[in-house]
Amino acid sequence: MGSPNYELKDNLLIRALGPRAYESLAQKAKLSDLRVGRWLYRQGAPIEAVYFPLAGMLSMLVKSGDRPPMEVALVGREGVLGAPEVIHHQQAISSCQVQLPARAVRVEAQAFHEILESHPSALKLMCQHFFALSHQLLYGTICTQQHDVRQRYARFLLMAQDRTGESRCPLTQKFVSRMLGVRRATVSETAAALKRAGLIDYDRGRIMIIDRRGLEAVCCPCYASIVRAYNSILPAAPRGAVDCGLREVRNKYTKR
Ligand SMILES: [Zn+2]
Repeated sequence: MGSPNYELKDNLLIRALGPRAYESLAQKAKLSDLRVGRWLYRQGAPIEAVYFPLAGMLSMLVKSGDRPPMEVALVGREGVLGAPEVIHHQQAISSCQVQLPARAVRVEAQAFHEILESHPSALKLMCQHFFALSHQLLYGTICTQQHDVRQRYARFLLMAQDRTGESRCPLTQKFVSRMLGVRRATVSETAAALKRAGLIDYDRGRIMIIDRRGLEAVCCPCYASIVRAYNSILPAAPRGAVDCGLREVRNKYTKR
């Protein structure tokens, strides 16, 4: 199943499953390559399958009234999409769109439900993930209201790197401005200031983190709070298995 470069355990939640739950999920898993812009599901619609990203980045978006949908959370290899709704037999509470080229494990909703019924430890892990995701949603709300664009821009880049494991993310300033819900000119000014400070660099269609520690110093405290929540549910990754991102920041914040 899948390409030779693909492993189920590239997803950190799958990696945290017990051996029997892992085997059950592996039997039902299907590899799915996800192109940028694809909607996995829409807010208010039934969810046919859950997705465990192995690479890339997806976002949860919520729409209220006539305004365009707004990004409320980022999900990558540390997470799963659609699980809470499937567990509770509910329709999608948000929409989900692919933001960076992604690869994911797809498990049909019914099969996923049966796996969780057979393996309570897997159900517990999914609930723990939702606890961590709730932190991202809650601090995202605070962040929008209380922190400036430079801090929010830094948080977005750090979270994107954590989720993709890539120090060079194929992001454009236009895209970041949409994700942050601020004017593109403001984002461009912010990026230029961070570049002058030697923290990031960018060219057409790509943003690179040059000085991660420096960017963390610029970032608001929301980032550390979100990282700590994910650290509390994900076991330590095998050394060298995650080359950057969550393992690195897990170690940093766990020591505090
Ligand atoms: Zn913040």
